[in-house]
Amino acid sequence: GLFGTGEGPAHERTTLFTDAKSGLAAIISVYSTALGPAFGGCRYWTYANGNDALVDALRLSQGMAYKNALADLPFGGGKAVILRTPEQTDRTSLFKAFGRAVESLGGLYITAEDVGTTVDDMRAAQTETRYISGMPRDGEFGGNPSPKTAYGVFVGIEAAAQYVMDKKSLADMTVAVQGLGSVGWDLCRRLADAGAKLIVADIDEARVAEVRVRFGAQTVKPDEIAGVEADVFAPCALGAVITPEVAEHCRFRIVAGGANNQLASLAEGDTLHRRGIFYAPDFLINAGGIVSCAREFLGGTDEASVMTEVAKIRERLFALAQRVEKSGEAPARAAVSWAREKIENAAAR
Ligand code: NAD
Repeated sequence: GLFGTGEGPAHERTTLFTDAKSGLAAIISVYSTALGPAFGGCRYWTYANGNDALVDALRLSQGMAYKNALADLPFGGGKAVILRTPEQTDRTSLFKAFGRAVESLGGLYITAEDVGTTVDDMRAAQTETRYISGMPRDGEFGGNPSPKTAYGVFVGIEAAAQYVMDKKSLADMTVAVQGLGSVGWDLCRRLADAGAKLIVADIDEARVAEVRVRFGAQTVKPDEIAGVEADVFAPCALGAVITPEVAEHCRFRIVAGGANNQLASLAEGDTLHRRGIFYAPDFLINAGGIVSCAREFLGGTDEASVMTEVAKIRERLFALAQRVEKSGEAPARAAVSWAREKIENAAAR
């Protein structure tokens, strides 16, 4: 398909924003607003070229539309990417310029953190826009979404283990975690508390060493983690880690992690399915962060209600498993169909 999204130009609107003074070059892509304003984080990343950034924005915004639909949030899907360059020396003015770009869309798109952006970046952008989330708020629920994402992924792994292996607990199960950043770290903590055995990898050796000491994890090199034998593989670094090669040869029972776009393409999901490996779709189980940001944005909630809402990932995974059994489709395809149904039903209303 066009731009590598696997389909034609299905996105509602995609805009390039530039600001000469701060060096901002940002792409904001709105996939769908059928269910509400497009909600999705802002990635700050070094891309090889502009087309790679565009493809990333298009793929990620489509993924957000599916994620928000399956999470039953009153929001459509969108995503922003800021192209990182060495000239961007003043981070505050960069994110202020980004905030003005978001504001100029008049609420069509609502932003938050993603890979490469921090709570401080959102605070800078917040001085310029109302359409923003993911920050601590005085006397109100809010803040860094990553721990909520990790909790949702943990719930998703538990549900997958129950469905696939009839396990009531993760005690003594082996989980391979790729990437020990905000999500992977917190996931390791929860898994260790639940008695799981961990095999971990990260390109950051200091983090690897700390997880080994803190959580008793076995450690392997970054290029080895997808090849180890484990009950569960939890990708929590970047996307497209389930390559054709990995899908065909990996030694897992379950793939369930926090990273976005884990499958190189839907075909790799089919390969896993054919091999009897259950793939818990990323956009179903990593929705904890967006649930947190969405509830923060809407206001009038608290920590406990948000955690209860995130835990609904458990029932959604079982509902997806039923759809898989009924249709015979691989989980990734079944989840895409389910999300598209919700978006199309809303668009038809
Ligand atoms: P992060 O930047 O904090 O952590 C990523 C970690 O992966 C880093 O420690 C990095 O060193 C490591 N890494 C990078 N390349 C690697 C490789 N080749 N092998 C092993 N490790 C590698 O990011 P995060 O916020 O933890 O997000 C992780 C993933 O989860 C991303 O794909 C992100 O899009 C997705 N996600 C995050 C959230 C959230 O709330 N933070 C929500 C939904 C999805």
